[in-house]
Amino acid sequence: MKIELNKIPIREVIAGYKNSAEEGVTAYNGKLNIRPKYQREFVYKEKQQNAIKLEAEIKELMMDEDVTKKFGIYPFVLTRQEKFLNIRAFTDKMKREAYERQKGICKKCKKYFEIEEMEADHIKPWHEGGKTVSGNCQMLCKDCNRRKSGK
Ligand SMILES: [Zn+2]
Repeated sequence: MKIELNKIPIREVIAGYKNSAEEGVTAYNGKLNIRPKYQREFVYKEKQQNAIKLEAEIKELMMDEDVTKKFGIYPFVLTRQEKFLNIRAFTDKMKREAYERQKGICKKCKKYFEIEEMEADHIKPWHEGGKTVSGNCQMLCKDCNRRKSGK
């Protein structure tokens, strides 16, 4: 077969350009396959994988002792707002331990405060996998804590 150079004007190539998530992308009146139709399987696969991921996350949240409001899990995965989960707060004992460890010094501004003037904070944020345990607790003065959480 002899192959000859065939000059096609751009306007002919883009004629009938179609872009469909499921039907693929074609141009040149259907003669040019930019993204073939069969790749729609990938589109479905991705949706399926996302559903599996979500299911695994819900399961994990169900077993997470820090999540005190199990019925908040669905609103949470839809909105990503942690308030729905009512994440367990640090106990007074955990707070006292952290306070003693820090010798009353705020971790942010390095000033001394009474324990009543301070608030507990997750060192590693809960949404990054940090748990509500003594080792993940630090005490911040109220001003620093407010600034940190952007309240
Ligand atoms: Zn401070």
